[in-house]
Order: sequence, then structure tokens, then C-alpha cells
Amino acid sequence: MYMRALIAALAAALFIAAAGPQPVPASTLIRNAVVIDGTGAPGRRGDVRIAGDRIAAIGALSPADGERIVDAGGLALAPGFIDTHSHHDRGLDTARDALAMVSQGVTTIVVGQDGGGSDLAALFEKLERQPVSVNVASYAGHGAIRRRVMADDFKRHATAEEIERMKPLVKAEMDAGALGLSTGLEYDPGIYSAPEEVIALAKIAGDAGGRYISHIRSEDRWFWDAIDEVIAIGRVNRMPVQVSHIKLGMHDLWGQAEKLIGILDRARASGVQLTADIYPYTYWQSNLGVLYPKRNFDDPIETEFVLAHVSLPGDIIFNSFRAHPDYVGKTLADVAKLRGMSPAKTLLELLAEPGGEGAGIVAKGMDDRDVERLIQWPFANVCSDGTSTGLHPRGFGSFSKVIGPYVRDKKLFSLEEAVRKMSSLAASNVGFSKRGRIAPNYFADLVLFDPAVVADRADFGKAQAQAVGIKTVWVNGQVVFQDGKTTNLYSGRPLRRETPAR
Ligand SMILES: [Zn+2]
Repeated sequence: MYMRALIAALAAALFIAAAGPQPVPASTLIRNAVVIDGTGAPGRRGDVRIAGDRIAAIGALSPADGERIVDAGGLALAPGFIDTHSHHDRGLDTARDALAMVSQGVTTIVVGQDGGGSDLAALFEKLERQPVSVNVASYAGHGAIRRRVMADDFKRHATAEEIERMKPLVKAEMDAGALGLSTGLEYDPGIYSAPEEVIALAKIAGDAGGRYISHIRSEDRWFWDAIDEVIAIGRVNRMPVQVSHIKLGMHDLWGQAEKLIGILDRARASGVQLTADIYPYTYWQSNLGVLYPKRNFDDPIETEFVLAHVSLPGDIIFNSFRAHPDYVGKTLADVAKLRGMSPAKTLLELLAEPGGEGAGIVAKGMDDRDVERLIQWPFANVCSDGTSTGLHPRGFGSFSKVIGPYVRDKKLFSLEEAVRKMSSLAASNVGFSKRGRIAPNYFADLVLFDPAVVADRADFGKAQAQAVGIKTVWVNGQVVFQDGKTTNLYSGRPLRRETPAR
């Protein structure tokens, strides 16, 4: 201890002599916090020491010489939150401070979702060359790999030979550090895959020690079959499987959260390593095309069905539309009124335009009571599915909405359970062994916050409003967010899969 203090003092003296920048202290002592360690255990008064990029000690600690002291003032100290389904990598190379995330206490994002992750070697290399303020992990994307092999001829099952060509591409991404394979089976090109193709490619990820995460094949019409498919992949391949942004996404399904939880619990009881993530909103964000799983965009009967059962005309808001930028922020009902025709006719006309099916929408598809019940499932961790742009408030609000309104006002679960769902459970659901807990030798990703104040401020019409109540955020031992502002320290790291290949 004496040697360490002496070295710190010498280092400090040298810095002063050189009139250089303030030296980075050898360690930081956070005193007088309520430590919520991420396991779900009750918060306890205590101190936490950070040394370098790790948590060194927890308990009643005395300051060491030269140590930076942070008085937590009785606020809650938790492991940094882990967003297991994120699209926040978009724009992160120019907005490296990751404000949308760190302002909510998120210290790690998991990208490459919905079948989209590709060229992870390049992604990780770039994050090393030009780091950002959060840690970034990624899945390999089934859709991206399918496109590389099938190019534009993807609207069919892959041949056995094509699947053989996809396998080494999955393996290469696993070798680059992918957490596993992600699919987006409601999207092109994944929607055209046969279940056998997905099982075969997921197996490559599983054999490499990875996992499977899925935007399942249907979140509405064929929801129960889609749940069965993800369970089957876990069972057949004996690999962990995670349902992305779990939801009952159709009016006909509302009120069936108990049935769903029963199915999930029975699968787990039978040995399937099944988990889920979920965001705290009843609106999803996607494109017009996703409303039509058969891609029959000119079918009036299907269109009537969509607008009566999946999302109502007043609940579909345009988020982006290249041909009609003036529609952004308007609902389909608004646009129908402008055009002087029925919502169904309007939707058919829009879909007939070039690029119509790609129009971005935010749409209400879920019921609050289902969201609130599903988020309580003990194996569901919190995610955002968000970005830093667009109309959906989830990018800036998901985690704070859970810590604030869901815990404090709705009392869906304890604060400790909310933190567990954002930290140790999330870490375990994506395979991080040294993050998501406040424990010795874990990485010092930490968030200091006021549980009485934390709240989301983002909403429709002000989706980029910053959450409140987060005091300080550390990523790998360095402060990246303090009192409402990012510090422009980029201490996040690329996180490659830890599990060694079998
Ligand atoms: Zn998705």
C-alpha cells in the first residue's frame, strides 16, 4: 500500500513539474453510496474502489493516498446497464460520446441485431482505432450472410449448396468475436429462409460457443409458431436462445401474456436455455413492409386485416418517407384525410409507390398490461431496440422509464430487480462474464443515480429529450458522463465473445 501511495505521489509530482495535464489518479474511491450490486440483492450502504479499469474492492473502505474521492451522497450505485438489443451503433462514429445511452446509465450496447450484423472484424478494428464512450459487442447477422450468398435472388428457400456456403461465413464472424447469430425473420431476406436453414446456421454459432438471438418470424399473425421455432432452435442445437424485443404485437393477442409466460417457462423447465429482452413501450418501429408478411402489398383484404388487427390507422406514424418527407410525424389516418380517401386505400397507394414498403413507421401494436407483465418475467432483460435519431422515444428513454416510472410509480418490481434486469441478467443473456455486477475484478462500468429522480423525458414529438436523474457514469473505470453532460472520454471497448470455441 505504501509503495503504491509513493508511486502515485511521485507520478503526481512529475506531472506538476511538467505542468502537464492532471494525472489520472491510481484509483477512485466512491464513498457513501447505496450499492445495488446487480444480482438482485438488497442495496447496501458502502464504498466501492475502482483501480484502473476494474472494481477493486467493496465495503467500508478508507481512502488511500492520492486516491480520487467521489462522495456519492447516498445515491444508488449500480453496474452500468447493458442494452442487449441496440441500433445505437448508427451514427456512433460521429457522435462518439453516445449521449442517448450514457445519459441513461447504459455502458454496453449489443448490436448486429435482426440479422443485420456484418464484417465484425472491421467493426471491432474501427472501435479500437476510434473508440467510443460505450462498450460495443455484436452478433453476426443471418440476413447479411444470406445476402452475400444469394444476392438479390433471396425470395426463396436457400439450396443445400447455398447453406453450405453460408456456414463458413457464420464461422468467420464467430472467429472475429461475434456473440452468436442474430436473425430478423420478419424482414427481407431472412423471412424467406426455411427453418432448417436457420437451425443449420445457428448450429455453427453454437458449436463455436455462441448463442442465437432472434427477431422472430412473426410478432403477430403466426406468433405462437414463431415462439415454437426459437424454442426448437435452442432444443435441437443445445444452445442459448434469446427472443428479441418480446411482444404480443397484434390486437388479437392482447391479454395473453400469461399464456406466453407459461410456454416460455415450460420450455425452460424442459432444459431449453431460453431468455428474452424487452423495451417498455407499446409502440414498435419498423417499416410499412413488415405489416405484410406475405409481401402482398396490393391485396385489399390483407390491408383491411392489417388496419383492423395489427395496428390502427391512427396508431401508425410515419418516421421517414423519402417520397413524402411532409408525412413524417403524421399518422396514416392524417394522410388519408389529406388525400381524401380511406386509410386502406391510402395505404395501398403508398405501397404501390417506389420505395413505399421501405417507409419508416412507428406503430402501436402492444397493450400496456402485456408489456408490464412480460417485463416482469424473471428471464427478460431490458433493451432499447433504439437509435439516437427518429421519432421513437425508446432510444433516449427505455432504461430511465424502467428505473423511474416502472419501479417508482407502477411498482412492477423492486429497484434491485430492475437493476438486475439491466445488468447481471443482461450480461448472462448475452454471455459477458466480467460485466453486469459490482464485484471484485469485474470491469468498472458503473452508474451513480438518484432513484427518486430518474425518469425518461423522451416522448413522441421530443424523442431526443435526455433522461434525468443519472449523476455519473463510468465505463472501464473512466467517467464518461457527469451531471447531465458527456465528458468526451472514449473509454468504451469492443467486446468480443469470451467463450472459447469448442
Ligand atoms: Zn427487431
